Amino acid sequence: MNHFELQGGELHCEDVALARIASEVGTPVYVYSSATLQRHFTVLRDALTSAGLKDPLIAFAVKANSNVAVLRTLAAVGAGADVVSEGEIRRALAAGIPAKRIVFSGVGKTEAEVAYALEAGVAEINLESEPELHLVNAVASRMGKRAAVAIRVNPDVEAGGHAKISTGKAENKFGVSLAEAERLYANASNMAGVRPVGVACHIGSQITDLAPLEAAFTKMRRLVERLRGEGLSIERLDLGGGLGAPYFNAPTPPAPADYAAMIARTMTGLSDIQFAFEPGRMIAANAGVLVARVLHVNARPEGRKFLVLDAAMNDLLRPAMYDAFHDIRPVTPRAGEPVTYDVVGPICETGDTFTRDRTLPPLQAGDLIAFMTAGAYGAAMSSEYNSRPLVPEVLVKGERYAVVRPRPSYDDMLAREAAAPWL
Ligand code: PLP
Repeated sequence: MNHFELQGGELHCEDVALARIASEVGTPVYVYSSATLQRHFTVLRDALTSAGLKDPLIAFAVKANSNVAVLRTLAAVGAGADVVSEGEIRRALAAGIPAKRIVFSGVGKTEAEVAYALEAGVAEINLESEPELHLVNAVASRMGKRAAVAIRVNPDVEAGGHAKISTGKAENKFGVSLAEAERLYANASNMAGVRPVGVACHIGSQITDLAPLEAAFTKMRRLVERLRGEGLSIERLDLGGGLGAPYFNAPTPPAPADYAAMIARTMTGLSDIQFAFEPGRMIAANAGVLVARVLHVNARPEGRKFLVLDAAMNDLLRPAMYDAFHDIRPVTPRAGEPVTYDVVGPICETGDTFTRDRTLPPLQAGDLIAFMTAGAYGAAMSSEYNSRPLVPEVLVKGERYAVVRPRPSYDDMLAREAAAPWL
């Protein structure tokens, strides 16, 4: 469920008309619903706790939507943060997320980032390789600390979905094999600078079938049992994120209750462990839309109609990068026969095509449309390609809204660059 509905013939986010935001903030613009963000988080938490998982650490994957106001909205209902860079740690802390609820993942942490994470006191650093174990051990020893670490396992499971967001196959760069995890965990328990607290996995994103998750989690459970059998202590099992969000024309993901029931079933008897989760998309995707304006309709004499928007691939990269489909809704639907459009942005790349042959209600220059399900991996992946100022973000709560990332002016954009002394 989300909070983007028609009220009086106008698409609203909660109680604010998207047309009002478009006229006051300009387009393109991302709009997020606080109620939807919090609802998705609490639905997941309630499902997990109802299934019997005590006090799960639900660390929102900051990469999905890194806006500090969004993070703060989630922190207010108890979210932690899954982060992959110092920048994301800083964002999570700035949003008031306690360090003890921050999990630091990622295949290539720098020494400086590890030192920053240790200074901040994050809950756990997920190690993705043996060199990283040695790096964290060395940095922590130098700082006179013992880093809480988990070993990220690559369980070699095909998660389905787009190849660019599959992370749990042996050929992917993430984590270590189950056998390596056992060896590294034992080694880590003898190192002065690290304290192994658990194991972690994350097999992909937009997963719409429980079977690969169950296969991976079963392997993780057996690993926990083997490690415990060797007398090693395991406090936390991090099962990652990856649960899909319902996108237009895409398979429906499992309900959080079914996901939770599968975990409870797979983990029966492991009651003395804390489970951690790193959901991103399922919380944020349907909590945001990208509102754009139609610049014009280019109707070719041969028949193809291009709906040219003021939003482009630099604002919403997913269609160009993952062939993703977003539902497109007119903000103020008008009556009339549906029309088939190719929906494109103004960037000088053929890839700047949001969708082809999409049948929509009739649209004209000046009309507003909303790309639905754009709250995850939308603004977070935006850029200024073609020197288009960074797309702004707006957060709605009830009848109020706030611009939580303003659109930079052209002067702001140019001021970030400097002239070389010889020019
Ligand atoms: N955790 C890790 C380590 C990830 O790499 C990702 C996404 O790539 C996530 C969590 C979030 O995944 P999702 O947004 O599909 O829940």
